[in-house]
Amino acid sequence: MTERERMRRRRRRSAFAFLVRAGVAVFAAAILALMVCGALYIGERLEKDAADAGPAGGVDTAEDGDAEDLEGDAEGGGAEAPGADAQDGEAPAVVVIDAGHGGVQSGCVFDGVMEKDITLSVAKLAGEKLSEAGVTVIMTRDGDEDVSLDERCEIANSAGAELFVSIHCNSFTEDDGVSGFEGYYHLGAEGKRLAEYIMEKAAGLGVKTRHVKDADYQVLRETDMPAALMEIGFLSNPGEREKLQTEEYRDTIAEAVAQGVMKMLENG
Ligand SMILES: [Zn+2]
Repeated sequence: MTERERMRRRRRRSAFAFLVRAGVAVFAAAILALMVCGALYIGERLEKDAADAGPAGGVDTAEDGDAEDLEGDAEGGGAEAPGADAQDGEAPAVVVIDAGHGGVQSGCVFDGVMEKDITLSVAKLAGEKLSEAGVTVIMTRDGDEDVSLDERCEIANSAGAELFVSIHCNSFTEDDGVSGFEGYYHLGAEGKRLAEYIMEKAAGLGVKTRHVKDADYQVLRETDMPAALMEIGFLSNPGEREKLQTEEYRDTIAEAVAQGVMKMLENG
């Protein structure tokens, strides 16, 4: 073996050793890279699973929402329920319907027809219509009871109601020819709008309307929310008294009240 051959062998051996070392290094690097990728992949999967679990939880909520919608539809006969829907999942709007007088307070009485009976009937009909539309209705009375004006305001204020509508009948003994539906509010544009919306709906339903005016009535002054007092007709007028004794006319008035309230809830 010549010196040159030894040199060549040595070179070959060191070249071989270099290749082996390089191979091991590449293999180790590949393993390391796979481990890093694997870890990243698992991490991503975990994040994705967590993200998937979120919407899965949301599906339950959506189902709850649907169940509520179905209930609303069942009650409202498919009618819109702005009280619930417009506020997107929030609690339905609370509206107080106040039947004027009651108990020993008959209100005005003409020919045996008592204001307290007419107001209770209209208030109940309006309350039913609003309940069907998804509104939470609070009645200051739902029977022939004495309720003070202080109590009526307290009921509305403690409930945190959005709107307050009081139902009354009018009288004008000096001239029994005077008739028509009137709306009252006290200060504030919102109460005025509420009264105007109800009047507008009444006119649309063929009811004879008169005017909307400011009046310093306690139930308008001491309620914290937009409030309207509707004088639905004159019991002193024989023709209007006759109409107010029919369920059909009272239902028309109640429809106007309900539609006006709904418009107020929708538009403010
Ligand atoms: Zn009255």
